[in-house]
Amino acid sequence: MLPTDSAKRLSFKRNVSDGDLVIVYERHDNMKAVKVCESAVLQNRFGVFKHSDWIGKPFGSKVFSNKGGFVYLLAPTPELWTLVLSHRTQILYIADISFVIMYLEIVPGCLVLESGTGSGSLCTSLARAVAPFGHVYTFDFHEQRAASAREDFERTGLSSLVTVGVRDIQGQGFPTEFTGKADSVFLDLPQPWLAIPSVGKMLKQDGILCSFSPCIEQVQRSCETLTSNFTDIRTFEVLLRTYEVREVKMNSFQGYEGCCSITIEFPPCKRRHRPTEESDELKDSSPPVVMARPSSEARGHTGYLTFARLKCLA
Ligand code: SAM
Repeated sequence: MLPTDSAKRLSFKRNVSDGDLVIVYERHDNMKAVKVCESAVLQNRFGVFKHSDWIGKPFGSKVFSNKGGFVYLLAPTPELWTLVLSHRTQILYIADISFVIMYLEIVPGCLVLESGTGSGSLCTSLARAVAPFGHVYTFDFHEQRAASAREDFERTGLSSLVTVGVRDIQGQGFPTEFTGKADSVFLDLPQPWLAIPSVGKMLKQDGILCSFSPCIEQVQRSCETLTSNFTDIRTFEVLLRTYEVREVKMNSFQGYEGCCSITIEFPPCKRRHRPTEESDELKDSSPPVVMARPSSEARGHTGYLTFARLKCLA
């Protein structure tokens, strides 16, 4: 069986073409998604970048503006898409997403049900995990959100792996056509316990459910409902700790708690050794070190992830 077009678009060993979606990277916290159009330009604080200069370059290339400024052109992976997508709702981020995909045991070929679709952040990663032969059916009761998600999946080239439906999953449950067919189900709903009886019908034997809830009271109600049909019920909170990596001079370094240092070799740099009014020769002679310390802007609580496996009836 040949991989689908979507699956091919998920492998990025290729060059930028007219019409492609690229992630224009300035810094790790400054990226945007841009559709390449031969006649268009991108303008930012570094100058004017002609899209025509990008066409034919490999993804990952550094490209220059009329003023000599530069950006990188990155392929639109699900990881980057989560960082650049338009937020129409709260979204799941990479730490929760990776945990969900691992614990739901999602592999190529799986059939996954999801509700709500929201901004499609998790769904983009689900689509890649089931590619090339699986499928994600995602439902949101908000028509405009569902339509915007469909447009995004077209842009990211995932539309043959994802079907977006409009449905009140808490009120109606998942469509009966999926009964006994889902390998896993993911819920990000305000009252997930209302959808759990339907999830029990949709899952294959041994299938797994994950429900994401920001509040512990939601988790408690979900767990109460889960006990009748599910086993191996476990709740996790994923707290990601990120570190800022900075280059500092040993002489000016006073030390701070919780930081570790790595001394690294730098190539000769005239500018670094030139004395200035602020830095004397003594400071400049000290070896530079790279410091890593916990980021002050680290994301804290996002939500609780409750996993449960459908009880075997036999
Ligand atoms: N996990 C998504 C992501 O990563 O982008 C975000 C989901 S968002 C927080 C929750 C979504 O659930 C909203 O888009 C909302 O419209 C949808 N929703 C709320 N109640 C619903 C219901 N009864 N049936 C279907 N969707 C519902």
